[in-house]
Order: sequence, then C-alpha cells, then structure tokens
Amino acid sequence: MSHDFRVVFQHGGQVAAACYSSPVYPQRSFKFSCRREENRRSNLRIREQYSCIHRVCVCVQSCHATKPGMLNVHLVPHTHDDVGWLKTVDQYFYGDRNDIQHAGVQYILDSVVDQLLKNPDRRFIYVETAFFYRWWKSQSSSMQQTVKQLVNEGRLEFVNGGWCMSDEAATHYSAVIDQMTIGLRFLNETFGACGHPRVAWHIDPFGHAREHASMFAQMGFDGFFFGRLDYQDRARRMRNKEQELLWRASDSLTPPVADLFTGILPNGYNPPEGFCWDQLCSDPPIRDDPDLEDYNVDDVVGRFLVIANSQSTVYKTNHIIMTMGSDFQYENANLWYKNLDKLIHYVNARQANGSKVNVLYSTPSCYLQELHRANLTWPLKTDDFFPYADDAHDFWTGYFTSRPALKRYERISNSNLQTCNQLEVFGGPASRKGPFGEGESQTMKKAMAVAQHHDAVSGTEKQHVANDYARKLANGWQHCQVLVSNSLAALSGLSAERIYCDNLNVSVCPLTESSKKFSVNVYNPLARPVTWPVRLPVNGTAYSVSDASGKAVDCQVVHVSQATHEVRRQRGFAVNELVFQVQAPPLGYTTYTVALIQDGPPPAPAQQRAPPVIQNKFLQVTFDPETGLISSLNNQETKQIIKLTQNFYWYNASAGNNVESRQPSGAYIFRPNSSTPFIISRTAKTEIIKTSVVQEVRQWFAPWVSQVVRLYADSRALELEWTVGPVPIDDSLGKEVITRLDTSIKTSEYFYTDSNGREVLQRKKDFRPTWNLKQSEPIAGNYYPINSRAYIKDDVDQLTVVTDRSQGGGSIQNGSLEIMLHRRLLHDDFRGVGEPLNEISGIFPDGLVVRGRLLLTLDPPQTAADTHRPLAEGMVLQPLLTFTDGDLKPNTQLEFSGLLAALPPAVHLLTLSQWDEDSVLLRLEHQYQSSESKVSSQPVTVNLQKLFSTLEVLGVAELNLSANQWKDEMKRFDWTPEKGEKPLLKTFQDPSTWEVTLRPMEIRTFLLKVNLR
Ligand SMILES: [Zn+2]
Repeated sequence: MSHDFRVVFQHGGQVAAACYSSPVYPQRSFKFSCRREENRRSNLRIREQYSCIHRVCVCVQSCHATKPGMLNVHLVPHTHDDVGWLKTVDQYFYGDRNDIQHAGVQYILDSVVDQLLKNPDRRFIYVETAFFYRWWKSQSSSMQQTVKQLVNEGRLEFVNGGWCMSDEAATHYSAVIDQMTIGLRFLNETFGACGHPRVAWHIDPFGHAREHASMFAQMGFDGFFFGRLDYQDRARRMRNKEQELLWRASDSLTPPVADLFTGILPNGYNPPEGFCWDQLCSDPPIRDDPDLEDYNVDDVVGRFLVIANSQSTVYKTNHIIMTMGSDFQYENANLWYKNLDKLIHYVNARQANGSKVNVLYSTPSCYLQELHRANLTWPLKTDDFFPYADDAHDFWTGYFTSRPALKRYERISNSNLQTCNQLEVFGGPASRKGPFGEGESQTMKKAMAVAQHHDAVSGTEKQHVANDYARKLANGWQHCQVLVSNSLAALSGLSAERIYCDNLNVSVCPLTESSKKFSVNVYNPLARPVTWPVRLPVNGTAYSVSDASGKAVDCQVVHVSQATHEVRRQRGFAVNELVFQVQAPPLGYTTYTVALIQDGPPPAPAQQRAPPVIQNKFLQVTFDPETGLISSLNNQETKQIIKLTQNFYWYNASAGNNVESRQPSGAYIFRPNSSTPFIISRTAKTEIIKTSVVQEVRQWFAPWVSQVVRLYADSRALELEWTVGPVPIDDSLGKEVITRLDTSIKTSEYFYTDSNGREVLQRKKDFRPTWNLKQSEPIAGNYYPINSRAYIKDDVDQLTVVTDRSQGGGSIQNGSLEIMLHRRLLHDDFRGVGEPLNEISGIFPDGLVVRGRLLLTLDPPQTAADTHRPLAEGMVLQPLLTFTDGDLKPNTQLEFSGLLAALPPAVHLLTLSQWDEDSVLLRLEHQYQSSESKVSSQPVTVNLQKLFSTLEVLGVAELNLSANQWKDEMKRFDWTPEKGEKPLLKTFQDPSTWEVTLRPMEIRTFLLKVNLR
C-alpha cells in the first residue's frame, strides 16, 4: 500500500472530500491519475508553487452503497467540540478541569482514530481545526501517516474545517472569512484535497445569518447543515417537508453564486432518543447474546425502526440522516462504535424478512450526495434564521449584546490584526525580525479565529473563559506590536521606541500625559485616505500640532469629563484632552508632532446651561432646553430635518418566576418582565463645549449612565459616545440597558439590520417572511442582531445608526429604533453555561463599565448608503496610533502609502496578508449592494499591477473566498429551486489578466506573487 497518493478532486458532481487510494476495499479500487496543471497563462506560474492547492488528480467517493427502494438511514458519528465554553480551549483540549465538565478533545481524537482502524466500515467527521491542529502537532509521523490514510479513504472526513464553528449573530464577515481561511489552509496543506471539506456544518450556533450562507457558498461548499431554528418554523417545515431547502443568500450576487443547499438536522445534533452510547450517556447498550437474560436486540431494532420511519415522514427523499454523537462525545469511542456496528448489523438483518430500512455509516457529504442524486426541486429561502426561539418565551436574542466589552475588544482586535497583516507585507522580512525583536501575526490570527467561536464573541461562555479569550487576544496583539514596530521602523528609518496606548477611549496614555514633545504615527488600514479625530490625554492646557509637512494643524484642548475620570479609575491622570483631526493616506501612515506650549491659554470653557444647538457644515443637532435631550437632527446639505429624541432605559430581566414561563433572562435569552422599559432619567444634566475642531454636549443621566453627543468639524455623522455601568443590582433586579431613538420617521413597522456587517435585511414587527408568526414575546421576539448598522426610513428620510460592535436591537414602536447596550443579570438561563451574566473585573469589582459609540446619519434613502457604507468601513478598520517621545531624528520618513492611488469608493480592501515568502493574499470587495447607490452600485475595475507603491506584482491567480481552491476549479453541486429556473453559473470576463472587475457585494480573492521594490 503506497502512501504516495496524489489526489485532489475531480469535478463532475462527485463529492470529493472522501478520496480513495488504497486497496482496502478491493472491489472498489481504481486507478488514479495525476496531471500537472499546465501553465495556461504565464501569470499562472504562481500556481506551481502551491502544490497542495493545485494538484489535479482523480479522487473517488468512499461512501457506502445505499439501496434504492429502501429508506436509507445515514448514521453520522460525530463530536461537537466547543472551542471554549464552560472550560477554556486549552482545558478542553487536555481534558483539564473535568470537575467543571467531563471533556478532553485529545482523548477523543486518540480514541476515534484507534476505533476507525478496527473496522474499515466505520466513519467519523471532525469539525474544529483549532483542536485538530493541536492534536496533529503532537502525533508521531507514523500516526500522521495513518491518519492521512484514513482521510484519503474517506473514513475520517473533515466538515466545515474552519478554526472554529463561528457564531453567526455577533461575528463580522471579515473575521469569519479569516478564521475559515486559516482552518482550511491547515487542512489543505496537511491532507491535500482529501482534507477539503465539502459541507458546512453549524450544528450549534443559535440562529443563522444569511451572510454566513453567502460566504459558505462562495467558499465552495456543496451544502450546509445546522441544528437550531425557531420552533414554529421547524414545526411548519416538518409538516411541509421543507427541512431541506435552497438558501439564496444574497440580493446582489447573481444566482447561484450565493445559493447554498441547507439541511436542518432532525434532532439538533443529538442521536435519536434512546440511542446515545457514549460514556456520557446512560442509554442501554445492545445486548445481543440470546443466552443472556437481558437480550434486547428486538427491542432496540424495533425502537430504531419506529424512529427511522417516523423521521422519514418529515423529509423529502428516501434518505435520512442521524447525528450519532453530541458535545465532547467519543472520548471512549469504543462504546459508540461497538453498539453502532451491532445496530447496523441487526437492523439490516431484518431486510431478509422484508424490512425496507437500510442503515449505514455515513458522513454529511455522502448524505448530501444522495440528496443531490435525487434530482428534486427544493423550497427557496431568501431571508435568514433570526431570531431563534426554542419555545414561546425563550428567545435567544440576549446574546446579541451579552458581554459588550468582549464584543468591542474582538472588533478592535480585528482592526489591529488587519493593520498587523498589512504592515507585515509592507515591511517585508524586516517586520518579522528587527530592532524590536521577533514579531509575528500568527498568534493574533489564531486568537482572533478562536474568538469567532459560537461561545466566544457571542458572550455565552463562563466568565473565566471570557477572560481567557481576552487574554489570548491581548497576547496576540503583543506579538503583533513587535511586528508593527519593526515594520514602521523599516518604513520610516526611525527605530526609536514606539508606545502603544490601548486605553485612549478612557483618556489613558502615560506618554502623552507627561511628555512635552512627542510624535504620533497614524496608520490607516483603509485603501482610501481618512480624516480621523484624535483625542489624546494631556496635562498641559495648550499645544501646537504640526503635520508631516510641518504645517500647523488646528487643535483644541478640552477638559476630561467627569464620566471619563470615573471610568478610567486609577489608570491615568490626565486632566485634559488634546483634540485634532488627522488625515492619513491610504494603506499607510503619516506623522504628527505635538509640542506643549508653556503658559498657554486655558482649555475651551464648558458651559453648564442647557445647550440649544451644536452643528458643523453637514449636520445640526438641537437639544430640548428643559430636558437636555436631543430634540432634532438636521442635514444641512439636503435640508432634511427630523424630530429625534434619544434616551436610555432598562428592561427588568425576568427572574423566571412568573406564571407564563419559568424562563429567566440570561447570557443567551432575553426575556424582559414587562414590555415597558424603565426610563433612567427624564432629564440629563448637560455641559457644552464648542471649539473649532469639535462641538460636544456632555449629558449625565445617572451615576451609571452618561453620554457625549459629539460633532467633529469634518464629520457627516453625529457621534453618541455612551458610558454605561456599573449597572446597579442592589434592588435585586437584573437589567438590560437600551438606548432608544424616537423619531418622526414613518416606518410602518419596518426596520433594517445588516447581516454580519454586509448586506442589509428588512425586518418587520411581529412578522417573519416565511411563516405565520404567533408572537409571544413582544420585545425579545422583535430583536435582531446588528453587526455594523441598522436603519429606519420612510420615503423621505433615513436615519442610519452605525455601531462599533455587535449588538441586539429592534423597532418596537413606529419611528423608533432601540439598541441594547449592556446587560447585567442575576440568573442563569438554563442553556448550560450555569452562571448568571454578571460581569465584574479587577478594575470594576462593582460591575463592568462599558463605553461605546453609535454614529448617526440622516440622509435621503436613495443616497444613504453613500454615507453609511464608508462610515461603517471606517468604524471596522480604524487608524492605529503609535507614539514616539521627544524629537524625531532627521531624515525620518514621515509619510508612507502602500498604494499608488486610493481605490475607488466602492472598493474595500478586505485582506492584505503575507501568505508565503514571496506571495500575499489579497481580497478586494465591492462594498455596495446592487441597487443601494446610484453612484457606487456600479461595477468597478481595479488594476492589480498598478495597485501597490512598494510591491511589484509578478503573478496573480484567483482563489475561492476561503483561499483553499483555485477559483476556476471550484465546482459545486447545482440545485433546482421549486419555483423558477435552475440558475446557471455565469462567468464574467475581466478586461485583462491584471484588470479585475468587481460587481456589487462581490469579494474577490487573489494570490499575488510579489517582490518588494
Ligand atoms: Zn457548541
């Protein structure tokens, strides 16, 4: 038997994850052939280097034969291994802290491999590459060879294959694509095409985002399976046999680009009742010795046939799937397999007596292949699977907001990681080894990937696990900081120490607080120039600021607010903030120098009286002099004006003690005790500061709620910087804190939310597009995830809110939009986490204080996207500031741009990351939907060779979205919707090899062979 197989996969409709190269099943052995990819175009030479991607060979299914005319039951042995939840990812891997939960992933993989080798019929699927990678690293080379063999024979199949199984409600598409990329890359490089998952598998996430389906389609998956959906939706789908469907996941991309076959699993992801044979279960084993008293084969087979036949009545084909496993099962895989072997044997033995049920070991891709072969039509779905409720008062809409500080930290970390990636490319090898030591981006990439898990950024983990995710991100950032410092040193010629101030949002930065002269390097990770307000904590009263050309920049000093003093506690001592606008070049940096003016004028005075108005050239905001609240918003360019009142409220979290249901609010569930929120204060104490750079009204509502309403001189958006916490619980009431915007906009019960930061979905109060909703929770049942923006509109006005992290929100009254900001709860919600969501920390022992920003814009609906798309883009990828004390050495390069020219407004540079020594991964994205902007929703062409200022592009090859397959080799199953035509894949021609055209909402992924100029 040779291990020197060369298999990738064959097109033509075969599921390809399972390959076959050895004579284990002689009756199905075959000859495989390899051919080298010919160089069709010289620029494709780059493909030769990536043998793991481009080997084109023949690969065959190793799915067990099924029986036509029978009900075929596909048993899928699997384990669901959370990448952190009740235990940290490390504790889960090693099986540490089994007192919290018995779970040890290393033992699961040890045991499964051992059991697979005992019987070639057995199958297993594995999902979470974060765990598999750890396990693989610690195996001997002979064990690695053995496992490769199992993979090649399709006995061990990878599904999904990302670093983790991402959350779908609180994740941003950028980080999801990244985490899938690193997981799939590991599988590709380790197993070749046989490690290439064909099926996306999100069995546990608590609701499903349309953008995830779109991404999975563009990653080349043939199908998608999940376990959780609204209980009413499931009931209807079971009645109508619509549990398998075709999801059309984009309004902009031409079908079938974002079409994804989607299957809803029969029992979540658990085995049928009575058939769990793990050591964690207590169902009776199959006792098949007829001489013994407890012989139960007839009973087991009988029960199994009843379940199988019943299940077949709610699915369309003569194939059904059963998930034989659950959370952290198969640690002692012998238990499962011994019983499954017997189950298959005894159930199939009944066929001799006329039974029409055939049971087999299978995998999701083998099952999917049978569905495809059935050649049926499937119901089409175009909305999403949010919100998820598993009972009338059990809406999983709390986790949209749970752990708001972690959700923000994850988002900042993504921005920092993208900057780190870009500077690794521009700095070249000098960024990885330089004056500040050895820097790298891998640690940060993995920390970010882990943070996408459905119990990480979702906020549904135990407190010590949340702390571990944050620690991992901080550790990753430490490694990136070295890289960033090295890279900036290489690009600027300045190797002086660079200071990072990660607490600028609470006015903490030891250098700027004490230094008389310093410089600020502003790195902009966007592919267009940005104007960005900088606020630095200082103790002087007057400063001079000059830009890279030495020109003086308008700057102002304002005093640090009382709220900021309170939230930063003992971490900093600045009394003032220096405020100025910086302008940074695309994918590059600029440098500002700041010098203290001795005996300068005092800071801008604050007026205590109620302010009537703040304004800049774009917007005007008026305030009610009686209440201190915002009363109207006016777009001065378009002459639009709306009534707008904004205030803070809290819902009293249900403690689970009422008559309708015992369900409390918790980390997952949002269940207010009453539909009327309590107002925190009808009035706000205010002070106003007006300077040439910024005008702001500081509002104080309560000791635990304050806000700054802020207009920078050059901003098209009104900033609401809210600070909430410690949420008081001395009244023994859990609180879910919201801000609500009440407007004169006539919304007719509609509002709009984004999906994972990309396309926008229409929402309607008490309504679901695909079934007749019986609404039982008037608030929680109308909450949706908001990842980057939400808006309300009528024919004239659109008010858009851009958020700085994922949050939950709804439009409960016409004209109103509410966003949940913070939650502090006193009860566990019975979904397993076993802790109330009551966050405290060393700095905040009395309860976490959270600060964030909402950006508001008012535009006509026809042009609103032209404002909110770039605004949200800038919120996601924001400039990184680094500081250098004292004078800069002469000849320091004060400005740099990695681009020859800014990209057009429609194009977002999503990824620029070092891939290999001489190649980089580039993703360009059209960030507009097809009809949301007259100007920007047009195709745009970019010339890849004329993109970079310091990189010579020598070769280009296009990849699929997850970068594990060449784009032109990506073949997927085609599926026919019940209504309408089967869509045919349309290919568009680029103008030339180097000029690539992007259409609305398209993301294109390229591998570029480059040379540093
Ligand atoms: Zn899970």
